[in-house]
Amino acid sequence: MDVDVGDVAQQAYTGGLPEWTEVESLVEAAYRRCRSESGGVVADYIPVLAQADPDWFAVCVAEVDGSVHAAGDAGIEFSIQSISKAFVYALVCESLGHDAVADRIGVNNTGLPFNSVIAIELNDGHPMNPMVNAGAIATTALVPGATSVERWSAIESGLSEFAGRPLQVDETVYQSEAQTNQRNRAIARLLESYGRIDLDPLEVVDVYTRQCSLRVTATDLAVMGATLADGGVNPVTGRRVVSAGVCRDTLAILASTGAYERSGEWLFEIGLPGKSGVAGGLVTIAPGKAGIGTFSPPLDPAGNSVRGQRATAYLSRVLGLNIFASQAHTLAARRKDGR
Ligand code: GLU
Repeated sequence: MDVDVGDVAQQAYTGGLPEWTEVESLVEAAYRRCRSESGGVVADYIPVLAQADPDWFAVCVAEVDGSVHAAGDAGIEFSIQSISKAFVYALVCESLGHDAVADRIGVNNTGLPFNSVIAIELNDGHPMNPMVNAGAIATTALVPGATSVERWSAIESGLSEFAGRPLQVDETVYQSEAQTNQRNRAIARLLESYGRIDLDPLEVVDVYTRQCSLRVTATDLAVMGATLADGGVNPVTGRRVVSAGVCRDTLAILASTGAYERSGEWLFEIGLPGKSGVAGGLVTIAPGKAGIGTFSPPLDPAGNSVRGQRATAYLSRVLGLNIFASQAHTLAARRKDGR
């Protein structure tokens, strides 16, 4: 993972963010520093995604107090793709609870590509990782509802609550993926054969394909991330979407699985939970502080947006977001504490 941000110093993780004007100018700086990065390739295995303009680029930070900072193409809509997995997972955790979801789906990285079939075979049919296709399809099968229409409606309204506005399906993306998703259908059939999906697997894949086709902007992703950073309350609408415990569980999963088989490198460089999608979106969460949404279609070989990773790495450093970056308790503070 090449997230080289030059000699930018890592600020320590503190209780809050710098003041509004500083965050505003650092978001602008992240955009300017990374806009000319030319690495990566636009996804084309879903045919319509290949039409994306590789120059599109947006960076957005939504703070838990509801302030939003955006630079670049923050109003352009694109399909959420794999990022939907994080939020559908949170909705399923909210309804089924911590233990049931951990048992049924699993919480570990498979270390294999997002659409791997071998990962299922190697684990006796256990999907393991809710952030790649097998685990995500098994998760979508757990969304409450008597019919696939009801399950879809729960996903559409739940993800809209995270974004704070009604999200809509991109019908062109949906059709393009529905016509070419034989591999996801095979994954669902395989899961069925292991007793991991109780519903009609093809109906589940259809709902999963729709959830991946929901249109979002980088600003939406930032607000969705900020909702997970804010104990489950959308900081813009003020409405609770999921519980604080569900946010904690979802963020733990994202920290270890959010960047496909590059998740270790992601955590090592950026030190935050995040999730990327093949249309070029990326959401990152700084617990108690903010959500970061970026959009830029060219991807690294694992499927993560190249500019998005670099801009997020920069913001993680300058805003002091890396949760592993502590600083020594000062002598003066110890004396003040009387120790
Ligand atoms: N809809 C895509 C698929 O299932 C999502 C992949 C991704 O963003 O990783 O292939």
